[in-house]
Amino acid sequence: MAELTREEAREMIEKLAYFGISEENLEKAVAQYMYCQKRGIEQFVGVVGYCWHCDKQVYEEWDLESAASTLVTGCPYCHRSFIG
Ligand SMILES: [Zn+2]
Repeated sequence: MAELTREEAREMIEKLAYFGISEENLEKAVAQYMYCQKRGIEQFVGVVGYCWHCDKQVYEEWDLESAASTLVTGCPYCHRSFIG
């Protein structure tokens, strides 16, 4: 995937959020996207932040600072891993 600026990432995630995403969670999703992109590491949580096991919004349980500095690897609701 090509490198995106913060603004481009924000626009892309907003477009992908079919069911809508709150401003707060959008900021966390952008922060996590930029965190992974900057380090060249795979992003495990879907860019919009919905768990593909239980459909809950994972970023709801994260604060912005953590989303910008920690790799999200699992769901805080169903505790399933996004890895592998
Ligand atoms: Zn889940």
